[in-house]
Amino acid sequence: MTDITIEKADYIIAYYRDLLTLPEMKALRHHVSTLKLEGVDKPGLTRMYLKTGWLTDDPLILNYLGEGYIQFILNCAERILCETPEKIFFNLCLNCGKLARIPQAKQCRFCGEDWH
Ligand SMILES: [Zn+2]
Repeated sequence: MTDITIEKADYIIAYYRDLLTLPEMKALRHHVSTLKLEGVDKPGLTRMYLKTGWLTDDPLILNYLGEGYIQFILNCAERILCETPEKIFFNLCLNCGKLARIPQAKQCRFCGEDWH
């Protein structure tokens, strides 16, 4: 068990997306497409998304999202940190220790510390 937080999971999904497995990637795409189609009443569009793989009806993939999106990204992040911890750089502020917005950031969004 790692001390993964939603914040760290978000960071990994945003900046280390290439470390996701193919099924994880498909589940993520499905989730994003579901959000896009929310409230849109166009069956044709949904069919098109299914055809192109932006949505999936594969139970194995849907199972990844079974406990909700947050749990899904926490699981992904935990797996990535367990299997390839050396590939993840948490850009932590030297002053307050909080996570910067992006890996390349040189200023803390919390305390304003600047490490340019
Ligand atoms: Zn700071």
